[in-house]
Amino acid sequence: MKNSFTERGIIERIKCRVPVPEGDLLVGIGDDCSVVKRSTGILELFTVDTLVEGIHFDSSWHSPRLLGRKAVSVNISDVAAMGGYPRYALLSLGLPKGIDETWVRDFLDGFEEALGEFEVTLMGGDTVASPGGVMISVTLVGESLEGQVLLRNTAKDGDLILVSGVLGDAAAGLELYRMNKAGIHPEAYPAQIKAHLDPVPEIVLGQLLAESGLVHAMMDLSDGLATDLARLCEASGLGAEIAAETLPISTGAERVAEALACSALEWAIAGGEDYRLLLTIDPGNREKLAALVRTKLGRELFLVGRMISKHGVFLVEDGHRREISYAGFDHFIE
Ligand code: ADP
Ligand code: MG
Repeated sequence: MKNSFTERGIIERIKCRVPVPEGDLLVGIGDDCSVVKRSTGILELFTVDTLVEGIHFDSSWHSPRLLGRKAVSVNISDVAAMGGYPRYALLSLGLPKGIDETWVRDFLDGFEEALGEFEVTLMGGDTVASPGGVMISVTLVGESLEGQVLLRNTAKDGDLILVSGVLGDAAAGLELYRMNKAGIHPEAYPAQIKAHLDPVPEIVLGQLLAESGLVHAMMDLSDGLATDLARLCEASGLGAEIAAETLPISTGAERVAEALACSALEWAIAGGEDYRLLLTIDPGNREKLAALVRTKLGRELFLVGRMISKHGVFLVEDGHRREISYAGFDHFIE
């Protein structure tokens, strides 16, 4: 029998078994990090993300060093999504018996390198044998200031929706390797393969946005705009309308799409692992925020749509409107 579970469905089943967060637990299941109030003014952030061989990575093209970096980066991205500061990590490893010693050394080199870049200290973990491939799970502990943490459930009707960078590069990089098309060399598209193999989390931007006080809701894009925006909409009890022509897509991703006969727009909507920030703001604050991000970081935010009261995520393309809610990656949909 075909499994009718979705990732969302499973998480819902878990969520309804646990009490609604109360007391020190400010945010439980449902955001990028769980949030606990510890001492006056300081919040602790907790997040865990797992990479499974054959699902999240393929060892035939993902080097152990870059995998070590990615295991850190995807977790840092969830702290960035709250506007927080990463502090400590726990590393849980499931390794096949007889794994190559140099693989483990190179993985740890990459892992340590990335921890160093984000000033995170490894404080513990667990190591077990795996009957299949490699499994890497990283738990990250971070911090934020009370009143500055950015959540998914606080978007407002009429808010503008912004993303922090181009979308679809990671999917383009993945497809270059996955499709392995004769005569097309992934190395010819360095930005796209980097986006897939070694993504850069938006930690500094996330902190600036949290400090600005100008952002209503924020999350990171790990499973594709269609799925992640649907999560933000659901959490906020709203919907969203996205304009296809405004989606920031790199010329590199367009070139890859052309070479592989794929759609870069589809990658931007449903491709995962971009690790950009998705945020909503009051329309009146657009110029102020743009100026702040430009002056402080020399960065640009891209306007892609607007929050609406009608539930669902809708894409407007050439005058046509179609619903795209949850059209991105789900672990349990085949
Ligand atoms: P992200 O993509 O930001 O890492 P996920 O989509 O993985 O977030 O998870 C969504 C929410 O569900 C998070 O708050 C996470 O803590 C929670 N969650 C996911 N899986 C489980 C689980 N097995 N048990 C408890 N909570 C879970
Ligand atoms: Mg996230």
